[in-house]
Order: sequence, then structure tokens, then C-alpha cells
Amino acid sequence: MEKEMKFKCIALINFLVLQCLAILGVSKGFDFFYFVEQWPGSYCDSDKFSCCYPTTGKPAADFSIHGLWPNYRNGSYPQNCDPNNPFNESEIADLISSMRRNWPSLACPSSSGESFWSHEWEKHGTCSESLLDQHSYFQTALTLRQQTNILQSLKSESFQMEDLIALPTLKML
Ligand code: 5GP
Repeated sequence: MEKEMKFKCIALINFLVLQCLAILGVSKGFDFFYFVEQWPGSYCDSDKFSCCYPTTGKPAADFSIHGLWPNYRNGSYPQNCDPNNPFNESEIADLISSMRRNWPSLACPSSSGESFWSHEWEKHGTCSESLLDQHSYFQTALTLRQQTNILQSLKSESFQMEDLIALPTLKML
């Protein structure tokens, strides 16, 4: 019972955080954010991509950040909104070590993540730049990552790792 309460509390906090972002987003040209995380095994198992360890080392066996995506309620989303504001690593120098841990790229060839972060900023981040500048965009994603420990929530609800491995199969149905 206590576990159920804790899970509900975590879910409620996450919901409220996303709602706050959503409310702020309404006046900014989109309706809400998706905060997207990825499970490394699912990325590596997908038919579309092969996967490689980051140059910075084997990633943790845990969910990691994919991106923070402004979206419209009708299911579509804006993209590549500002070619005049390219990714600039010097603006997020203080976040790099946390980004390497929490936002690794599993794409081949191996990289230390910059091209993935650049892609996410330019495709998605630039569409929320009236709300989040480059530093705030990446900082917000890192903060959400700390607040949404999916693996811990699944573990505390007694999910087995086999269930996670089965998720991509379920998605195909
Ligand atoms: P999206 O368009 O879904 O925001 O970003 C996906 C793009 O980022 C793909 O082109 C993919 O090649 C690249 N990418 C680089 N590293 C990763 C990774 O670790 N996971 C995923 N899903 N995409 C990655």
C-alpha cells in the first residue's frame, strides 16, 4: 500500500511538472512537451539502427534521455524552427559531464554525444526557444531525468527486466 502511494506520488509530481511546462508552452506556439527517454537495449535491438558504445564508455544499464520535444495536441509537432540558433557546446559547458552520463548517444560510429545533442536542439529545442534558451533546454531535460527515475519506479513495482526487453515487441502489435 505504501509502495502504491509512493508510485502515485511520483506519477503525480511528474504529471504536475509536465503540466506546468505545458501551461507555459500554450502561449509559446506549442501545447506541451514530451520528455522522451530511451532504453539502450531497445535502441540496439531496433531494425532501423545498429548501436555503438559512446567513446566515453559503456553506458549504464538504465534509461537515458532521448529528447525534450514541444508538441501539438493534434499529434503533430514543430521542428527545425531556428536555423540561426545552432547548437553551441560552449553554452552548456557546465552540463557536459552530466550530459555524458544521462544523455549518451548509442548511434554508430561511436561519439561522445555532441552530434545527438546538436540534432535534438536544432530539431526540437529551437521550437521552444521562446521559453527555454539552449542552457535551460538541456538543464530542464537533465532535471526531468533526475525526477523521473523510470527504472526505480519499475523495480519498486516488481517489474522484471524481461518485461522491459519485451516492450519493443509489444509496440509492434
Ligand atoms: P529524433 O528525430 O527522434 O529526435 O532523433 C533521432 C535521431 O538522432 C536519429 O537520426 C538518430 O540517428 C540520432 N541519434 C543519435 N544517437 C541516438 C540515440 O542514442 N538514440 C536515438 N534514438 N537516436 C539517436
